[in-house]
Amino acid sequence: MNTTSDGAAAGAAAQPGTWTCPFCSLLCDGFALESGSSLRLRGSDCPRARAGLAALDDIGALTPSVDGVACDLDAALDAAADRLAAARLPLFGGLATDVQGMRALYRLANVRGAILDHAHGEAMMPALRMLQDRGQMFTTLAEIRNRADLIVCVGTDAVSGHPEFFRRCAPVEGKDSAARVVFLAAGEGTPTAADIPWASAVDAVSPPGDAFDTVAMLAALVDGRRIHDADGVLAALAEAMRAARYCVIVWEPARLPPHGALVGEALLRLLMNLNRKTRAGAFTLGGNDGAQTANGAMSWLSGLPLRSRVGPQGVGHDPLQYASARLLEERAVDLLLWVASFTPGLPPPQTALPRIVLGHPGLTAGCAQAGSVFIPVATPGINADGHLLRSDNVVSLPLYAVRDDGLPTVAEVARALVGRLTTGTAAKEGA
Ligand code: SF4
Repeated sequence: MNTTSDGAAAGAAAQPGTWTCPFCSLLCDGFALESGSSLRLRGSDCPRARAGLAALDDIGALTPSVDGVACDLDAALDAAADRLAAARLPLFGGLATDVQGMRALYRLANVRGAILDHAHGEAMMPALRMLQDRGQMFTTLAEIRNRADLIVCVGTDAVSGHPEFFRRCAPVEGKDSAARVVFLAAGEGTPTAADIPWASAVDAVSPPGDAFDTVAMLAALVDGRRIHDADGVLAALAEAMRAARYCVIVWEPARLPPHGALVGEALLRLLMNLNRKTRAGAFTLGGNDGAQTANGAMSWLSGLPLRSRVGPQGVGHDPLQYASARLLEERAVDLLLWVASFTPGLPPPQTALPRIVLGHPGLTAGCAQAGSVFIPVATPGINADGHLLRSDNVVSLPLYAVRDDGLPTVAEVARALVGRLTTGTAAKEGA
């Protein structure tokens, strides 16, 4: 069970540098957290973090249930193990958990021959496809702070999903010049100069055409090709990108239209062109709800990304056929195990299939129903220690519990299920 980390006992304040926020993939660790009956963020107005913390106020009964009937943890584990044992092809979806949770789920998936896909699997595929087809040219938050002199946000305002992004990009002390920020086709709500006070300039441009047309034209202009009737705004932006010492392209695969991988590949080609004469890199905004972590752990454990099946027959990857929505719609699987430990904003999809939900306590009401086993689990960084991968994929950050609600972690539940399925006896490995 969970322990409260040193210096963060109930009623105390976790000081900046001692608390890591788990509510988006930026994993901010520079803010303080007041713990107690309510959790309060200090030093940031981040709406995403505040919503995540508010969802942990008054979390009420922390009781597992089987078919809508409250029960103890052992009974819920027994029922879950029985349903997993009876399944021919289970789908492990959601996967909103930390490194240890994902490692344990991977082992459980191997025992039952399951397919694994994240709740944000669809949004992750363009970046994965780009990586598989052409490689990557990514940058990090530290590189942006230290080197970037031009940041171009393509098709995203950056802050809707990652509210503290620009604060995390603020130049380090002693950097010789601040970066200019340009929003390209970012839509409504784009930040202004007042929102990014450290920037040397903040501009928003919206050329006509869809995302692919815009990026293809920009890439051609950066490449120095002559284009009849080239858009003047894009031509000026291309010139600025060529003149920059370190240009960073920020993109958000979740905001791309269908076939967004084409846009990702065009951006990569553009970066490769820039890197012939100067330096440039991409920063991918995504990976919330543990998506970055789930895919990272899956890749290093199996050699394949998510949307793969693992088990006694070996491993197989299919980014289209193994999409959760498709598998459920076509009834290609016969059980859904859904994991959502960070917020109640990630409920399991409705399905007539048997469901096992390892979920945030806020999901209790929607999941305590016939056909479902519900086990409330701890949230890494709140009532459990853990580790998560940051959005730039280079840093794994530790998370520390600030209180103990007596909830099991996802890893503990998954290990208990492995124990039941491999020994055939219940309650051999308590959670
Ligand atoms: S930006 Fe993300 S990690 Fe940072 S405080 Fe907000 S939700 Fe937490």
